[in-house]
Amino acid sequence: MTVAVPPAGRKPRLPRTPSAARLAPARRPDAAALTAALLGWYDRHRRVLPWRAPAGVRADPYAVWLSEIMLQQTTVKAVVPYFRTFTAAFPTVRDLAAAELDSVLRLWAGLGYYARARNLHACARAVAERHGGVFPGTVDALRALPGIGDYTANAIAAIAFDVPVVPIDGNVERVLTRLHALEEELPGGKPRLRALADALEPAGRAGDFAQALMDLGATICTPKSPACVLCPWSEPCAARRRGDPEGFPRKAPKKEGTLRRGAAFVAVRGDGAVLVRSRPEKGLLGGMTEVPTTAWSADFSPQNALDHAPGLDAVAPGWRRLPGVVTHVFTHFPLELFVFVAAVPAGVDAPAGTRWVAQGDIAGEAFPNVMRKVLAHAGIDPKPAPPDPSPRISKPKRSPR
Ligand code: SF4
Repeated sequence: MTVAVPPAGRKPRLPRTPSAARLAPARRPDAAALTAALLGWYDRHRRVLPWRAPAGVRADPYAVWLSEIMLQQTTVKAVVPYFRTFTAAFPTVRDLAAAELDSVLRLWAGLGYYARARNLHACARAVAERHGGVFPGTVDALRALPGIGDYTANAIAAIAFDVPVVPIDGNVERVLTRLHALEEELPGGKPRLRALADALEPAGRAGDFAQALMDLGATICTPKSPACVLCPWSEPCAARRRGDPEGFPRKAPKKEGTLRRGAAFVAVRGDGAVLVRSRPEKGLLGGMTEVPTTAWSADFSPQNALDHAPGLDAVAPGWRRLPGVVTHVFTHFPLELFVFVAAVPAGVDAPAGTRWVAQGDIAGEAFPNVMRKVLAHAGIDPKPAPPDPSPRISKPKRSPR
């Protein structure tokens, strides 16, 4: 390789490697202009959401935190009724801290990813005990609370306290990788993405800027068919200029989890009660209610399933396997459950570690979605109690997505 000798006092210019060329956009958009365009668009088109404060009003950290936890892996449409129910039941973080975990899990039932509900409760208690019921206003102090990761700490700090940080969720990731036509695959390219986000200037409106980015990703820069003609960043957007915005972000191929199988046992007593138990507090679906099941494993076979469910053969003389399977996909593995049912004579005691729940009380139990599918497969209506139709919202709030 030959390197041109530079004039005295200047460093030699090395030929660009392909990766260096990829990392350096040909023309970096001006940060101040980008910020101004996005905030102007946000002032005209911001979404109205139950947790979002009106323009010019500082957001309530409790509402921001609650909505951010609920919105993880969950759509705005699904979250709205839960947010209203929670803020009606627990108007402040102190109210939530004073509640029993079981009542929190019951209100959370149906929203999925139940570790969030346990962390929500633990976080409320930590805020009450460590901070006197007032959310701290720095990223580091927020990050030290249970269930609050980098993204959520940045989001609360920006939206509720105007700390100049840019929270990067899936929507923001999509917008920024398109704006810069970032060729690095995610998640490996996240440090580069963070550097690009940090280069933007929230211009004293960090909360609005964060929410504007989220709104842009949710309403204009959508995964499929982004509405580039309506976008405030249409002109500087590198992916739009290349003509392939849907190709971003580049993603490393996903590793599929191994399919697991197991059996679930639905025992119904003569008076209609159903046999259930609580899952261990720690781990997948911790603390949630379930019908008894075997362990879930890759090599499970439904033959002799009762051998893997101690005590159940004593509950009923005959178990019948239903046709078909219940399928469910967790974030790290898919699951198939074979469902067995049995009619149990009235007066039979629940085996150790289980309990009978009257059918009328099933809707109030904290069943995760996979168990609701099992109950539905067995012909039992597992619907959660409907949210309060006329909830009280403690304060106007801001939102993220
Ligand atoms: S111009 Fe299109 S691809 Fe680029 S940020 Fe806007 S909506 Fe997304």
